[in-house]
Order: sequence, then structure tokens, then C-alpha cells
Amino acid sequence: MLSTSSKPAQAEVVLGRMEKHDHEEVLFCYDRPTGLKAIIAVHNTTLGPALGGTRMWPYASEAEALNDVLRLSRGMTYKSSLAGLDLGGGKAVIIGDSRTQKTEAMFRRFGQFVHSLNGRYITAEDVGMSVTEMVNIKKETKYVAGLPEEMGGSGDPSPVTSYGVYCGMKAAAKTAFGSDDLSGRKVSIQGAGNVGKGLVTLLVKEGASVFLTDIHDEKLAAVRAEFPTITLVKPEVIHDLDVDIHSPCALGATINDETLERLKCSVIAGAANNQLADETIHGKAVMKKGILYAPDFLINAGGIINCAWEMKGYNRKAALKQTEGIQDTALRIFKASADLDIPTYLAANQTAEHRITSIREAGLRYASPW
Ligand code: NAD
Repeated sequence: MLSTSSKPAQAEVVLGRMEKHDHEEVLFCYDRPTGLKAIIAVHNTTLGPALGGTRMWPYASEAEALNDVLRLSRGMTYKSSLAGLDLGGGKAVIIGDSRTQKTEAMFRRFGQFVHSLNGRYITAEDVGMSVTEMVNIKKETKYVAGLPEEMGGSGDPSPVTSYGVYCGMKAAAKTAFGSDDLSGRKVSIQGAGNVGKGLVTLLVKEGASVFLTDIHDEKLAAVRAEFPTITLVKPEVIHDLDVDIHSPCALGATINDETLERLKCSVIAGAANNQLADETIHGKAVMKKGILYAPDFLINAGGIINCAWEMKGYNRKAALKQTEGIQDTALRIFKASADLDIPTYLAANQTAEHRITSIREAGLRYASPW
């Protein structure tokens, strides 16, 4: 018998959420023996198979996990479109603690779920994952990237992501200051992780003054040991510094009402996904404040470009060359934003959507890489 309750059934809630942003498919994965609880979201496959990493996180609820995977998978569609890749957008989340709950069996079982999508979704690393898990997933499916170099993979994508962020930062500097030379520029970086550290390397080499923070002192100490000229600051003051450029390379939603009040920079250009707490509100607010915001999904595409090259037969030089293209794309987006008087995130969204729509309307299908 059909439910007459006014409360919508769970499936309607999920389908309603999918309808809102046109997600194609969501796969819920459960496996009792391994304790696997995962959700795979395929947002859009117009341009190609949906490539996006798997995040393992101890989500407080299924709703939170679903929310994350829907948002992240859509971001991947835009990221790949802007980067000119023949890839769609997808993402997976595994509900669990990556420090205590990872087992070979869990990731092999997860690999079987990925395989069941027949190449419509290709996984890779994201938060809480490493190449070890990719190797276990690979035992069950070929639809995985981010494998170690000794297995024919491209290894850790972070250095390429750092390079792309650096190229995007240069485009922002050119637009905001009239020169892409970063020497002498004061740059604050939030997060001394894989991408943050790579960015420090590039900026110090160019002669920028770097202010770095992290919540883990040992990470800061390790970067400082390599680069003694940088200034270390406490996490709580990173948004108060008098700098030219602020680079969020830790978590999402750090550009919000509270931090925007404090920021004194002219440019925001970093790696963290979903930096704007609310795209519409804070995208407009940064613009109003006279800050040039380099959209995260535009300038952090180095990692996905690297994975795309892994699927074609890895060529690091070519991956870095294509990543350099982020600089020109960013310049075009900043110009469109200025010409149309719209926030940069919106100019980037429109550019990404335009490519997808034109391919779909022409009835073109991508050639399967498999
Ligand atoms: P990571 O986990 O290696 O580093 C993140 C760092 O941020 C950690 O050292 C952590 O201690 C620090 N951190 C967390 N909260 C903080 C806070 N409140 N203040 C200061 N530091 C804090 O991650 P990563 O691979 O360097 O990625 C950084 C960001 O870039 C993430 O948001 C990630 O999603 C995004 N990203 C990464 C890649 C990639 O190739 N690694 C690609 C695209 C996007």
C-alpha cells in the first residue's frame, strides 16, 4: 500500500535532491562483512566518464554524506569542463574513520561497486585515501586512477595541483596588480599539507613572502625546515594578515561572513574545494569588497588533469603543460567577470556549462576510453 504520510519517502528526498542539480545517478553501497557504507554519485557524463576521487570521512549522518557527495560530484563536472578534459563529474564517499576502519577487503568490495557502473564512474584519491587503497580497488576494477608510478600510474597528484594553483594565482596577480610576477608579493597560505607545501616551494622560488599556518605544528616545522625564510603564523590569525594574496589550502567554506570581514588581501587563490561558504552570497560579497576570487574548481584542476593523463598513458611533461593552461583560462574568466559585471565563480560556471550544453545539443558522445 502507498504511504499517505505527508512526510516524503526517503527515495523522494534523494530524487528531489538529484533533480535540483541534474545528477544522473546515485549508487548506495552496503556490505555487511566488510562494514562498507558508501555512496557514489555520477553528476554528468556528457563530456566523458565521471572521474572524481573517493573521500573517507566519519560523517555524522547519511544526509551529511549524501550532501557532500552530491555537491562534490557536481563540482567535478565543472572542473573537468573548464580544464577542457573529456571527462564528466562524479565522486564517492565512504562513511567511516580512515585512521581506524580501512581494510583491504573493504576497498576491494568498494572496487566491485565501482566496477558495477561499467566505467561510467572512475575513482581516485581524495581526503582520507592513499595510493594503497587505489591498489586494492584496482584488484577488482580497472576504473581507477591515481595509482603508483610503478604500476603505470601517475602517483600523488598534489604537486601538479600545486602547480595549477600557482598558475591560477599568477593570472589573478596579472589581473589585480597588472603583473603576474609574484616576487615580493605577500602570500598567506592556510594548510601545510600536500598542496600547501608544493605551493610554498613554487612561491619561495619566485621570491614571494610566504606566511603559512596549519593546525598541526609538526607539519609547519617540516616545511619551515626546508624553507627557513617563510613566516609561520597561528591558525586563528591567518585571515587578519596584511597580505596581497590569500590562499586557502586546507578545508572548504573558509570564505564566509566572519572571515570576509577580516581579510585584507586583493586576491584569493587557493586549492581547497568549495572555499565560498555560500557560492551565491560570498561570491558576490568578495566582488563587492574588491577582492579578486580565483574559483577553486578552476585553479585546482591540476590533479584531475594529471589523472586524465594517467588514463591516456602517463606523460608528466604533457600533464604539466596542460596544467599551465589554467593561467589562460583564468585570465579569460576574470575578463568575462569584469565585462559582464558578474562574480568570477558565476563566469566560471557559465563557461563550464556552455561547453557541456554545446556538446550535448550537437548530439556528440565521447569516445569511450575503455
Ligand atoms: P592535506 O590533507 O595534505 O592538507 C591539508 C592541511 O590542512 C593539513 O595539513 C591540515 O592539518 C591543514 N588544516 C586543516 N584544517 C586547518 C585549519 N583550520 N587551519 C589551518 N590548517 C588546517 O590535503 P591536500 O591534498 O594538501 O589538499 C588541500 C586542499 O586542496 C583540500 O581541500 C583538497 O580537497 C583540495 N584539493 C587537493 C587536490 C590534490 O591534488 N591533493 C586537488 C584538488 C583539490
